[in-house]
Order: sequence, then structure tokens, then C-alpha cells
Amino acid sequence: MPTRTLPSGETIPALGQGTWYMGDGLRSREEEVAALRLGLDLGLTLIDTAEMYGNGASEQLVGEAIAGRRDEAFLVSKVLPSNASKQGTIKACERSLERLGTDRLDLYLLHWRGGTPLKETLEAFEELVEAGKIRHWGVSNFDVSDMEELTALRGGTAVQVNQVLYNLTRRGIEWDLQPWCRERQIPLMAYSPIEQGRMLDHSSLKRIAERLGATAAQVALGWLLRQEGLVAIPKAGSPRHVEENRAALDLQLSDQDLAELDRSFPAPDRKQPLEIL
Ligand code: NDP
Repeated sequence: MPTRTLPSGETIPALGQGTWYMGDGLRSREEEVAALRLGLDLGLTLIDTAEMYGNGASEQLVGEAIAGRRDEAFLVSKVLPSNASKQGTIKACERSLERLGTDRLDLYLLHWRGGTPLKETLEAFEELVEAGKIRHWGVSNFDVSDMEELTALRGGTAVQVNQVLYNLTRRGIEWDLQPWCRERQIPLMAYSPIEQGRMLDHSSLKRIAERLGATAAQVALGWLLRQEGLVAIPKAGSPRHVEENRAALDLQLSDQDLAELDRSFPAPDRKQPLEIL
């Protein structure tokens, strides 16, 4: 499994598992739990969840999937901006731990920026680290200006990742945020890496996939996974999709494939505000 290095020096897998809408009844609970467990077996040990997802239902399902296997997983969860005051963050984290059936998170993210001063949330993160309830903290949906503000705060450079919307159809971050994070060796975590399935019918993606004997989802993931400092977290509610996504790590995209993808999904030629789902 290829890995990425966090600023702390710890390594995490380049391919993880998302869980938005898991536990919401889209698929059977058994199938979703089996998908996450298969992911653990295949090395997709980073599991991303949030208190927001299904109002805690996703965290509960993840808790079920990692029961008895907690130490295999690198668990990521997120605090809602509406809970991100100092005490609110600490309480929200404790509720997440309870639902997940664990005593610690590996990484705790501010889901997106709200009205609470960053300094306050950061203080809560520091207190949670001190108490052993989280091992690391990071942010999500932060554009360059937010990252600059954060890292200018005392303790702000302890940020471990920025989780943002990034896939072939959403390349805006390549203009400024991605170089900014690379320069500082802060990994980006690409969410909705296959655009929630909406990009899979794209003709060029399908053509390249056919040429490679792969699927459109694998080409979309393969394109992300070849990038330095990038972690992708597709959500797959079925074991078949988990296997397929794992195999995207073995995909070799040629210069011709990459050029064709660039023509169909052009890189940005100017600053674009960070997109959010
Ligand atoms: P994804 O781009 O991961 O797409 C998920 C969809 O694609 C599901 O419908 C899934 O279906 C389907 N799928 C997965 N694998 C395949 C495959 N191999 N072939 C065909 N279809 C496939 O979207 P998400 O929005 O879920 O993003 C991933 C994760 O990122 C989230 O689950 C969440 O953890 C995180 N996220 C974070 C956000 C943030 O603000 N920080 C915002 C959005 C997402 P099925 O389930 O049936 O397999």
C-alpha cells in the first residue's frame, strides 16, 4: 500500500474509505459493514467519518465495522462548525468516541469553517491531544487564505491535513491550494474522488478505461493516486466496489492517457474559489 507522510512523521495509506451516507439505509447494514471490513483486509485502513453523517449513524456503523480491530484502523472524524467552540468541540469529540466505541481518534478535523474563531477550535484540539482523545488534528474545506490564517496562529502549524473536494471534474485546487500544501508538506485528502459517481459516464473516462481493461472509477482514482502528497477516500458501500477501488492502485496511466484526461478535464488557468459539496 503506498503511503503519505503526515507532518508528524506518521504514515497513512494513500487510499482510504469514505463513509458519508453509510448507515442511512442505502444498502443493508451487513453489506456496508462487510465492505468496510474488506477494506481493512485490503489495506484501506484509513476510515473517514463525521458526526454530521446520518447524525451519528455513520460513526455507529464504523464502530461496528472496527469492533475487535480498532488498532488496524486509522480513524478520522470531524466536528461540525456549529459545535466548534472550545467546550463544544470537546463534547462533540466525546460523543463521536462513544458512537465509534473507541477511546481515541487518529485524526480529528474541523469539517468546515464557521463563525467560531479558529483559535478557539485549535485550543480544543490541543486539549483533546493532551487528554489522549485525539492523536492529531486537521481541517477540511480550507482554502489558501484559511490555511494562512490558521498556520499564523500559535500551534497552527500542527495541522496534519486539509480534506477538500478534488477529482478530475474539480481541479481548481491545482492553481494555488495544492502547491501551497505541497510546499509545506501538508497532505491533501481528496473527498468525493469519483464525484459521487456522477463522472463515471464521461466518454473520455470510459474510453481510457476500456483501453486499459479497467473501469471509469479506477481511472478517476488512479489519476488521483499518482499524485504526490494526496490521499483519496472513495466511499464504497459494497465489497465489489471496495475491491475495484483497491485495484486502482495498480493502474498504470500512460502519458497518452494523462494527456487525454487533461484535454477532457482541463487544469485551472486562474484562481477558483474552493468548491465544496
Ligand atoms: P465518492 O466520490 O466517493 O462517491 C461515492 C459513490 O460512488 C457511492 O455512490 C458509491 O456507491 C459509488 N462508488 C464507489 N466505488 C465505486 C466503483 N468502483 N464503481 C462505481 N461506483 C462506485 O463520494 P463521497 O461524497 O462519498 O466522498 C467520499 C468520502 O469523502 C465521503 O464518503 C466522506 O467520507 C468524505 N467527504 C467529506 C466531505 C467534507 O466536507 N469533508 C464532503 C464529502 C465527502 P456504493 O456506495 O454503492 O459503492
